[in-house]
Amino acid sequence: MQVFKFGGASVKDATAIKNVVKILQTFATEKTIVVISAMGKTTNKLELLAQAYFKGTDDLHLILDDLKSFHFNILEELFPDRSDKVFDEIENLFTEITWCLEEPISENYNYHYDQMVCMGELLSTKIVSAYLNYSGVENRWEDARNFVQTDNNYREGKVDYDLSQQLVNSQLIPLFSSVSLVVTQGFIGGTSENYTTTLGREGSDYTAALLAYFTNAKQVTIWKDVEGVLNADPKYFKNTSKIDELTYHDAIELTYFGTSVIHPKTIKPLQNKNILLYVKSFIHPQAPGTVIKKSVNRVNVTSYIFKENQILISIQPKDFSFIAEDNMGEIFNALGKFKVHANMIQNSAISLSICVDNDPFKLDPLISSLQQSFKVLYNKNVQLMTIRNYNQEIINSLSEGKIVLLEQRTRNTHQMVLQDETSD
Ligand code: ASP
Ligand code: MG
Repeated sequence: MQVFKFGGASVKDATAIKNVVKILQTFATEKTIVVISAMGKTTNKLELLAQAYFKGTDDLHLILDDLKSFHFNILEELFPDRSDKVFDEIENLFTEITWCLEEPISENYNYHYDQMVCMGELLSTKIVSAYLNYSGVENRWEDARNFVQTDNNYREGKVDYDLSQQLVNSQLIPLFSSVSLVVTQGFIGGTSENYTTTLGREGSDYTAALLAYFTNAKQVTIWKDVEGVLNADPKYFKNTSKIDELTYHDAIELTYFGTSVIHPKTIKPLQNKNILLYVKSFIHPQAPGTVIKKSVNRVNVTSYIFKENQILISIQPKDFSFIAEDNMGEIFNALGKFKVHANMIQNSAISLSICVDNDPFKLDPLISSLQQSFKVLYNKNVQLMTIRNYNQEIINSLSEGKIVLLEQRTRNTHQMVLQDETSD
């Protein structure tokens, strides 16, 4: 068994989908589970739809029409004659979205979000699976919610490993007695009450890893629009280079600090069963890509992880007491409650500083809650630079012309929160 994962960029239009079919014809020569994300920027658009529904704004129908025409245009390009049953199936999924929009709005935004946002993956997998069949690549479409079971922590569903394992054994593995290719959705799961959950943005990689873990697959391949794991994001750095081999441990660290090629939760299940992880280019599928495995021929390449749009929050007890265990407990509980991930933490005698992604949906309630007991100050629009395998020269050159608001180093990793000299 092997697992392939195709992200949004690999299925962003009809040409891209044709390329996926070619890759499967060439590389899916054994039993393969194909995990697919929503097409192109569909998830972002569905997020906008969920927000419009929740706020009751009238761009709702514009967003929905846009999503609909995007998917139907692709369908029409792939299937010249409209008689294929996939047209009805896609129409039905859009009807389901309309039902979600007609549901009375409850307090629980995250619940509504998941019931709508999951549609991106249902749409993409229906289309790709139908087009594979149409191209003579026999496959079976399966609903991932039948075997990826989570709690009802919407938008961040926590996977129930034991139950999902049982369901994979009873629902997924038997399919392979009649087909060798199963197409399913990344990112989505189901609860015991048959509601839909999502596993967190970019969670399809994690689904691929889970399914590999549950089926004892030999390897997972994540097909990307880059040649493999690079030592830096080409959006911010010139002269990037591909890393040929990484250990699971290196990969966990890099993804934890924000390397966006692989979702951070992906590595651990693979490491636990020693399943190889390949990151390869769907544009140059024959190229070797990056392999992540137990031990590698080590070369300590310097890697750079740059995160923009960060906020540095500084939290101080209102009564001028010290930052101590009891108030730290309160702060960390609040981070947990509002699901805010701290990208960097540092404390001094009277304040605790945390650097987080700027997501107002999560931060506004966090900050109001903290303000009940603390004085909360923040710097917006800062950047977080993480360097693995650093040296002083590199640090100096990257902080040139910037104000270093906070700095932290371990043996391998150097992090700094930076602000442009011109911003306030
Ligand atoms: N479609 C989801 C997202 O964009 C999941 C994924 O792409 O992995 O976040
Ligand atoms: Mg995606």
